[in-house]
Amino acid sequence: MERTGVSGGQRTGQVLIFDADDTLWENNILFERVIDDFLEWVAHPTLDRAEIRAILDDIERANVVTHGYGSAIFLHSLAECLSRLRERPATEAERRRIEELAVALVERRVELVPGVADTLAELGRRHHLLLLTKGDVDEQQRKIDASGLGHHFRGTHIVPEKNVEVYRRLAIEQRLDLNATWMIGNSPKSDILPARAAGLNAVYIPDPHPWALDHAEIDPDDDRVLTLTSFPDLLHHF
Ligand SMILES: [Mg+2]
Repeated sequence: MERTGVSGGQRTGQVLIFDADDTLWENNILFERVIDDFLEWVAHPTLDRAEIRAILDDIERANVVTHGYGSAIFLHSLAECLSRLRERPATEAERRRIEELAVALVERRVELVPGVADTLAELGRRHHLLLLTKGDVDEQQRKIDASGLGHHFRGTHIVPEKNVEVYRRLAIEQRLDLNATWMIGNSPKSDILPARAAGLNAVYIPDPHPWALDHAEIDPDDDRVLTLTSFPDLLHHF
């Protein structure tokens, strides 16, 4: 699947800016597994899983606005959800249980998306690669280090939120030729729409496990968005 305006075989000498979470490595699925275990554990007399999930989504939505992204704030949201269900603060034992549920997040194991390492190595020979990821600086840096992918990028940028101003500033700082620059990511809301609003091209590689809070619609008539089904497909275009 691709849009006609930006198709037309392999390009050279482009600037390729990569998202990290759920583009280079799995992220949402790790959170979803923790949420599944959490929902199992908090079983409520009158609310079903979907209703509890809706409460958790509301709490997360509010916390992302005030506190940003990352596993620490996610654990805080789980405790807040529990406290709302029980109508009292989470106990010390309950907080410990939540931390145990989230051990895979806290240990920062990084599971690469298939084909990423080889594809980046190949793309790096023909293009200028940058990394742009949002979240807590220490947490994102630890994931970059654990991924073993850092050396592919000529620059790494960790920002609290990816909005149009961030893309505009990056374009100015890096003196990017917008027509030869591409933002590559899984999130319409954080990667595709703000990058396009700043004048960059975009490559959308949908995540099979999207995060509900990250949802946004891409204009199907935007001919400067290339949609691919897998990461290694980049090699057919760049
Ligand atoms: Mg992402």
